[in-house]
Amino acid sequence: MTAVHIPGVPVIDAGQLVSTSPATGAEAGRLPVATDADVRQAVDRARAAGDWWAGLGFTGRRQRMLRWRALLAKRIEQLAELVHVEGGKPTADAIVEIVTAIEHIDWAARNAGRVLGPRRVRSRLILAEFSGHLEYQPHGVVGVIGPWNYPVFTPIGSAAYALAAGNAVVLKPSEYTPAVGQWLVDSFAEVVPEQPVFTAVHGLGDVGAALCRSGVNKLAFTGSTATARKVMAACAETLTPMLIEGGGKDAMIVDSDADLDAAAEACVWGGMTNAGQTCIGIERVYAVDAVFDAFVDKVVTRAGRLTVGPEGTDIGPITMPRQIDVIRRHIDAAITSGGRAVLGGPSAVQPPYVHPTVLVDVPEESAAVREETFGPTLTISRVRDADEAVTRANALSYGLGGSVFGRRRAVATARRLRSGMASINSTLTFAGMSTLPFGGVGDSGFGRIHGEDGLREFGRAKAITRRRARSLLPSMTFERTPADVARLVKAIKVMYGR
Ligand code: NDP
Repeated sequence: MTAVHIPGVPVIDAGQLVSTSPATGAEAGRLPVATDADVRQAVDRARAAGDWWAGLGFTGRRQRMLRWRALLAKRIEQLAELVHVEGGKPTADAIVEIVTAIEHIDWAARNAGRVLGPRRVRSRLILAEFSGHLEYQPHGVVGVIGPWNYPVFTPIGSAAYALAAGNAVVLKPSEYTPAVGQWLVDSFAEVVPEQPVFTAVHGLGDVGAALCRSGVNKLAFTGSTATARKVMAACAETLTPMLIEGGGKDAMIVDSDADLDAAAEACVWGGMTNAGQTCIGIERVYAVDAVFDAFVDKVVTRAGRLTVGPEGTDIGPITMPRQIDVIRRHIDAAITSGGRAVLGGPSAVQPPYVHPTVLVDVPEESAAVREETFGPTLTISRVRDADEAVTRANALSYGLGGSVFGRRRAVATARRLRSGMASINSTLTFAGMSTLPFGGVGDSGFGRIHGEDGLREFGRAKAITRRRARSLLPSMTFERTPADVARLVKAIKVMYGR
């Protein structure tokens, strides 16, 4: 990579990774590129730090993590400005992103002890003379690989839960947003100065690959499904467990009894916030015939009002310049396959910006319906009823989130969506609810961050049994007699033989 600066495209300049604003080309961050040896060293140092961190116990970690979240709250404007400059995201969107991340740190810190700490579990009649004990112990060092589109929310969704569980974390931020990643680890080091518990390594994809092979005990990957496959292959070499938060093509269903104004408002937000560069962003809408025309009108009116540009607008630049080619290809594919742009269209693509685009009558086979677009575009398709909407929504290999607007059938419809998450009469809200798990199915990945499942993802279940009394029916010993075995057979028939 040469040191020619194309706005938004990171370059390596004299061993430093330089990130720039996609809107202005202004330098945003400059960080040393890690070699393979640096990555291994970071993981080794994190391992020792992790032992210390685990030794603090849930209470010690909770205190420190709550101080960290307070620091983020105090400096929210500063961090939002950095997110805005480095990724182009409107500052208001950056604030919302950071608010959500702060909430996750708070919940993870407060609940880790309850969810993961040692507890008794009930034993059953068959082993009544033993007590059962369960706890979730830290893995050690968790590697976190994150994307650029939510450079605070996504790494923290894994890192906060991993840290609360007692792990050390080594973060590899996206090459597009290294300064935000470094800001996060630096702020953590202010409240935990004793040991390198949460650190970052920087560089291009090869640094992420090195992290996978560096001896981390678990890897949390958030990014595209294509990269997830490579990461999983690398982790397979060492049987390193991992979780994948992959891409998506989330659908929204608008039923005949939906509040159409609320649905249109949420649809425009869910599809176009952060210029549509949202893993759980609404990309496809299925509206039932009876409300289709009115709904499309309302979406077009609202989306048509959005402002686009570098500062103080609703929609900022596309962060990753090459994504613009994907967005253009999808819009063109929609039009050439018989679709119509009722707002925007090919002329909406004005690099580094893409203006809101609403496409209708697009065949389901089109790339605009099947592939992740990651732009402020929506396809809206007419369906007979909610059943057809579910069938079409579930037809893709992706299955991250989704949304349903309606009343009578809304809950049943949300449950039938083949996805890890769904919101009813809103969009994206499950991401901010720290008590709920977050993750997908199929090509959208596996494993969960957030909530109790998210905490358990970063702890190894440790099961212990302890003898409380002599065995009345000794079976797991060579001292057992044929009479003992006969009594066992009799007992089992009484207990389970009915
Ligand atoms: P990428 O898959 O391109 O990159 C993700 C991360 O992986 C980056 O840090 C990248 O580094 C790193 N990486 C690249 N190659 C390798 C490799 N061979 N081994 C290890 N790590 C590697 O995704 P994007 O950054 O473009 O993010 C957008 C994608 O993320 C979208 O598909 C989106 O849906 C998804 N996403 C999913 C979320 C979820 O929770 N499910 C949330 C947010 C986004 P580098 O940047 O240096 O190439």
